[in-house]
Amino acid sequence: MKLSLLALTLLSLLAPGPSAAKRPPTRARKVVFIIADGIPADVLAKANTPTIKKVIGAGTYLPAHVGGDLGTYTQTPTISAPGYMDLLTGTWGYKHNVWDNDVKAPNYAYYNIFRLLKAARPTSKIGIFSTWLDNRTKLVGEGRPAAGNLKFDYHADGYELDTVAFRHDKQSLYTHAIDDKVVAEASQCLRTQAPDLSWIYLEHTDDVGHRHGDSPQQQQALSYLDAQVGQVWAALQDRARHYPEDWLLVLTTDHGRDAATGKNHGGQSARERATWLVLSTKEVNTYARRQPVAIVDILPTIARFIQLPLPEATQRELDGVPLIGPVSLAQPTVAATSDSLRLRWTALGTKPEKVKIWAATTNHFKTGGADQYQLLGTVPLARQHLAFSRAAYPAAFYKIVLEGEHNTVNCWLMPAGPPQLIP
Ligand SMILES: [Zn+2]
Repeated sequence: MKLSLLALTLLSLLAPGPSAAKRPPTRARKVVFIIADGIPADVLAKANTPTIKKVIGAGTYLPAHVGGDLGTYTQTPTISAPGYMDLLTGTWGYKHNVWDNDVKAPNYAYYNIFRLLKAARPTSKIGIFSTWLDNRTKLVGEGRPAAGNLKFDYHADGYELDTVAFRHDKQSLYTHAIDDKVVAEASQCLRTQAPDLSWIYLEHTDDVGHRHGDSPQQQQALSYLDAQVGQVWAALQDRARHYPEDWLLVLTTDHGRDAATGKNHGGQSARERATWLVLSTKEVNTYARRQPVAIVDILPTIARFIQLPLPEATQRELDGVPLIGPVSLAQPTVAATSDSLRLRWTALGTKPEKVKIWAATTNHFKTGGADQYQLLGTVPLARQHLAFSRAAYPAAFYKIVLEGEHNTVNCWLMPAGPPQLIP
């Protein structure tokens, strides 16, 4: 008894406690994520992009997907703004509520990564450099009370509204010029200000796709992108050489394109859903190696890298799994019969551990409230399934949360009807 108590005391001394989590690491950890619009995985694969290949060589290339889980309540259009919002919030459309580029009613109850960072570390610096103004003003919702009155410390965007400096030509070369301007501003800011978290959004690749489809022009657009990524990459490498900073670069796209022409997107075909993800680190986990990963995995990955603690209520809503660091489980599903709930998950932990299973039958989170979760049970993670009698928890709607030692995942049992009619 005494021995085990001593062992426990030693363990608690060795384990990083809450105070350790708050202590800044000796080298600052910073992230830049780039979304290059509308590049199918096969287009990137055959493009002449020596710099992106260099980043992949120093890091990791992961096949990825957008569009939620096909045919389920998480299915989300393969359209730009929903894709950006998937990344920003780590959730699919049924939560963030952005279904097209009109961005009519984003649900800011699902905090974006910038807001999560500022809430935990108010003095941290954030930047956005973008060829589409709405990314700052509507998706992140800068200055909107419902979106937390967030303010970027650095921004360079809105150039598309300046039709004198960037005349809107039929070939959309103006978006190439704007992308160049955005990247120049971003690189300068990264070199001199080194914000803790930055988003660079580049549009030209999608414009060329819509105009020309799979074409030499599209390949040219990829070459432009490669040079732009090179500028950003050089800025980060310079910072890491001269300052005590570790940088993670995340490069991805928001959707693929149709197989027939490469001009369109928005649907759920394999080529529209298939995307890709480049991380400037080789240290990806077992979940990342079970490809394809998803655009919603980026938020928890960024949070891991910058050692940002996420509130429990947020973790219970995230639809992604971190791609770096230890992971416990992924791919939760719930199915119902008239009298039981059947849960399944994929265990990823290498050591024996327990998973806690929680359920809520309300969705107050959606309107900024809190849900009361009930602990249904604690079972060995490796079991990978569990059935419950429904009689004890009668409801038409359930939010099920599976809490492993290293990560938390969720799945919902939806009442019949279209996904928009969530209670
Ligand atoms: Zn797009």
